Amino acid sequence: MRVLITGAAGFLGSHLSDRFIREGHTVVGMDNLITGNMDNIAHLMGHERFSFIKHDVSSYIYVPGPLDAVLHFASPASPNDYLAHPIPTLKVGSLGTHNTLGLAKAKNARYLLASTSEVYGDPEVNPQPEDYWGNVNPIGPRGVYDEAKRFAEAMTLAYHRYHGLETRIVRIFNTYGPRMRLNDGRVVPNFIAQALKGQPLTVYGNGKQTRSFQYYTDLVEGIYRLLFSAEKLPVNIGNPVEMSILEFAQAVVEISGSQSDILFVEPGDDRFTDDPKVRRPDISKAKRVLDWEPKVNLADGLRQTVDYFRSRV
Ligand code: UDP
Repeated sequence: MRVLITGAAGFLGSHLSDRFIREGHTVVGMDNLITGNMDNIAHLMGHERFSFIKHDVSSYIYVPGPLDAVLHFASPASPNDYLAHPIPTLKVGSLGTHNTLGLAKAKNARYLLASTSEVYGDPEVNPQPEDYWGNVNPIGPRGVYDEAKRFAEAMTLAYHRYHGLETRIVRIFNTYGPRMRLNDGRVVPNFIAQALKGQPLTVYGNGKQTRSFQYYTDLVEGIYRLLFSAEKLPVNIGNPVEMSILEFAQAVVEISGSQSDILFVEPGDDRFTDDPKVRRPDISKAKRVLDWEPKVNLADGLRQTVDYFRSRV
């Protein structure tokens, strides 16, 4: 297959590019590099089946030649990043989704949208099954991401229902691993960097809010299976092991062998506004339709990630 991956220089886009190359496909990577980093795909540059186009998918996209699949992974994905880039975040989820869908339709390619657990907002149901409609504040600081992704899902299904396009939607829960940006502001790089530097780990609020963390290899496997499955409606891909952020901080300290303390802080800015109090995927659908479940436990995944960050701190 010849596959377009938007956001190819990002954390997930680059790992997906690696997977498709490894499976023998040809990958066209696209990224505008506002949060992506060419270092993530440096090893693919010059590969005979990989090419890269620097482009913002919020503007009309031109890709010469045939395409069999379009995977739309371009977007800022850290709360810090969408606070810093609110309008590009809205545009890549809305205009970027429209443009990539239009491209997929023109090329008669299968389409896969990277959606998010953020479509559930601050959920009143835990764990979250795909048929939960969510609890999103449209006008809060996270709304630029959440609403863009909700619009993206609606647009993707409209292209499926109206144009008959083959579409897939993955709702990605918190994912971590090598190639996350050390300073992207999310909890995994923040805590690991703090632990490695011997600084206190900054737990926001009382640390009782929960998340469920999956290692990127599990996610990539789920996405690969979803693309080749027959499932048109959204599928959650995440690790259902839920823990409080305080417990997560303790796990990072232990696994990195750090002496760091844990510090409770109240970010005075928008970083903590509308922070979801709980998050955990219901993965019964992924198990049923993809025969997928996560394989990597937190200790193993964190060790790999700590090793990666250790070489960079
Ligand atoms: N968080 C924290 N300390 C940090 C960064 C984040 O306690 O230095 C918390 C944040 O408030 C949230 C959780 O960790 O409850 C996950 O935040 P992240 O930014 O990784 O992504 P989110 O899951 O909110 O999209």
